[in-house]
Amino acid sequence: MTIVRTTMLVAVCTLTLALGAALARQNVSDAHDIAQDMDRSVRPGDDFYHYANGEWLKTSTIPAGQTSYDTRAILVAKTNQRVRDLIQEAATAHSAGIAQKVGDYYASFVDESSIEAKGMAPLADEMAMISAITDKASLSAYLGATLNTEVDGLTGNADHIFGVWVNQSFTDSEHYVFHLLQGGLGLPDRDDYLAQSSKMAALRAQYQSHIAAMLKLAGVFDSETKAARVLKLEVSIAQTHAPDSDAADVFKQNNPWKRADFGLTAPGMDWNAYFKAAGVAEQSEFIVWQPTAVTGTSALVGSESLDLWKDYLRLHLIEHYASVLPKAVADQHFAFFGTILSGVQQMPDRSQDAIAATNAALGQAVGQLYTQRYFPQEAKARAQAMVRDMIAAYRARIPNLTWMSGQTKEKALAKLAALRIGVGYPEKWIDYSELEVIRGDAFGNTRRAEAFNRLRNLAKLKQAADPDEWRIDPQIVGAVIVFTPNAETFSAGLLQPPFFDSQGDTASNYGSAGAGIAHEISHSFDELGNIYDAQGRLGNWWTAEDLAKYHAAAEKLVAQFNGFCPLADLCVNGKQVLTENIADLAGLLTAHDAYVLSLQGKTDTVINGLTGEQRFFLAFAQRWRKAQSESALSRQIKNDTHSPAEYRCDTVRNVEAWYKAYQVMPGDKLYLKPHDRVGIW
Ligand SMILES: [Zn+2]
Repeated sequence: MTIVRTTMLVAVCTLTLALGAALARQNVSDAHDIAQDMDRSVRPGDDFYHYANGEWLKTSTIPAGQTSYDTRAILVAKTNQRVRDLIQEAATAHSAGIAQKVGDYYASFVDESSIEAKGMAPLADEMAMISAITDKASLSAYLGATLNTEVDGLTGNADHIFGVWVNQSFTDSEHYVFHLLQGGLGLPDRDDYLAQSSKMAALRAQYQSHIAAMLKLAGVFDSETKAARVLKLEVSIAQTHAPDSDAADVFKQNNPWKRADFGLTAPGMDWNAYFKAAGVAEQSEFIVWQPTAVTGTSALVGSESLDLWKDYLRLHLIEHYASVLPKAVADQHFAFFGTILSGVQQMPDRSQDAIAATNAALGQAVGQLYTQRYFPQEAKARAQAMVRDMIAAYRARIPNLTWMSGQTKEKALAKLAALRIGVGYPEKWIDYSELEVIRGDAFGNTRRAEAFNRLRNLAKLKQAADPDEWRIDPQIVGAVIVFTPNAETFSAGLLQPPFFDSQGDTASNYGSAGAGIAHEISHSFDELGNIYDAQGRLGNWWTAEDLAKYHAAAEKLVAQFNGFCPLADLCVNGKQVLTENIADLAGLLTAHDAYVLSLQGKTDTVINGLTGEQRFFLAFAQRWRKAQSESALSRQIKNDTHSPAEYRCDTVRNVEAWYKAYQVMPGDKLYLKPHDRVGIW
């Protein structure tokens, strides 16, 4: 079986990080009645998914332009609307503190007449800096000054030559280090430049026309000829980039370099000038994720003409700030990146871009406004109590695993004890007081926010590594697992009904959000997390015997899912979805233990005729409900590592307590003999 060695930062499986997807607005009342979506005419032991979700599935329609619709989509739309309202309120309130910054940032961004009136003048000083490049040293200094610090282990392509991610190293959890990542491409991916198909050749021709148009807007003469050369330079940069397949292998990214290695191994760039201008002249240790990109791009700095590099830099400067430059620039940028590349015909409403830009620049300031209104301290405390029960349940469960050796169990328990779980919002917010936001200066605000974040990121290089660093804005419906450091973060946006109701039923909370959190925790101990230790350092802590027994125990789960064939000639590939199915099972079992723990020996009340045990499993089943087009389902079965929703729900078949809760008997369609149930966790 192939093991995917994922990068140290993993966007969470079931929940993606995203804001701003234009979705139909839906009303979801906060007080959610778990019973209203059921179809009680279906027998739970025959079809638990439709028993739990029958009414919802009958009445839900996929919004136009989408291929699926589920609770997450509803929450994203609802939360985006709340964020929009908060930001727009701040813009009209003319208040002080973070609300002033948020409001003025937004108001400036939508103030298109001010942006138009300034024309290209805001770019003048930086364009002059590019024109003043006279040798390789000043070119290197300019490149260093534009080092992008807003990338991370998930971002494949920084929009400047290189990007830095300040995070602990793969071997030392005490200190932040400088992770240097490849960058510098205009198109999203290396293969966009290198693929030989006629489709990609046509795309590159369109990109070249776009470059010419942008250079013309930047005031560059003979833009057609120059565009061809700039594209050629980007193709050369792409040739030095590591292939996408490398991104799946974290061991390929762990290349420690000393400062002196750059001059010796990667000649061309004036590295002294580069690092000095980047503000990290004293930095001595680096982790170079893609050495070929560093040596290759540096060689191009040495070999290509200054004039070519200057045109390349003019292009990327205007591209970078396109959203806060006059309409002609923004329109041209959208015509290529929006319409040609992403297939979006109509430019989104300016306010939508402004919301996204405000979130990007002032994420935790917006997060404070959001949580003050929608996720108070009491909600956080209740979610934290649930997380504590999940951890206690794992602590009790790990010693009983049959496939893990004694020494591995000790390591697993140490890793569990060290795991940091952030819930809702950070303990300590980013202090934005040094960031000046001026109403009417969209361009300046953008630049100052970038500089603020850059200084903040680089300052970490001189601080001890903080395992509690907050990695997702509270107003995003999502979560992040970081293996390095050993930490997970669940946002306030995710912790809302129907997943989690801070004033609602414990059984439902544990069966829904609880099982989701427990799913993510399990990844720290499975084939994704087994190469990271308690401090997030690289090194496999399983024995060969653990691995063999784990795979043997998993065989039954592979077979179970191979048997699901929802479309003609298309069955689920049990091996492809195995890791996520194991996490679903671990999450469900552990969340159930945690629910039992939370009762402290008492019997839960009956609500809507449902016992606590029944509501726990019902909430789990409702977590997965999804309306999906046949083509989307087919795509998911072919490509996704997660099973279709209905079969994730059917994880209950392996759990003894579900049989008891719903009195599922031999003869029921979902019934599995005890011997056929999977006992990995
Ligand atoms: Zn997962």
